[in-house]
Amino acid sequence: MAVERTLSIIKPDATKRNLTGKINQKFEDNGLRIVAQKRIQLTEDQAKKFYAVHAERPFYKDLVSFMISGPVVVQVLEGDDAVAQNRKIMGATNPAEADEGTIRAEFAENIEANSVHGSDSAENAAIEVSFFFSENEIVG
Ligand code: ADP
Ligand code: MG
Repeated sequence: MAVERTLSIIKPDATKRNLTGKINQKFEDNGLRIVAQKRIQLTEDQAKKFYAVHAERPFYKDLVSFMISGPVVVQVLEGDDAVAQNRKIMGATNPAEADEGTIRAEFAENIEANSVHGSDSAENAAIEVSFFFSENEIVG
């Protein structure tokens, strides 16, 4: 298995409920290392650009509003097979369908306010990591 990096975002529903530590514990307990992390307020432009792939979806406008409704924690996670491993730790997009013990099963409020984002491929991970971090901000 290759060591990979993936982008994670702890979303506003979770930062508002003070769940950053509990969510980070899930990553660390499951073999991922947090090699970069910052708490930021996304601008509308940033949120629109980050989720541009969903621009044509009916939920896009609401998603952008939600993502700027409070602070987020953007982070780079590193470990064996980190992209797929993080998706497993996160659970399904819809918390009603998420496996027991996953972040979304335990913490998500609904299909939109679902507590975390995680890159869905190694290619997108590289693009998303560079959206928020320069190489010298990531310390493995
Ligand atoms: P994931 O975050 O699991 O990769 P997607 O990339 O499909 O899921 O969607 C991006 C985000 O858009 C989701 O995490 C969620 O916040 C929101 N979203 C997805 N589907 C819906 C939906 N049907 N209604 C409202 N929001 C949604
Ligand atoms: Mg996605």
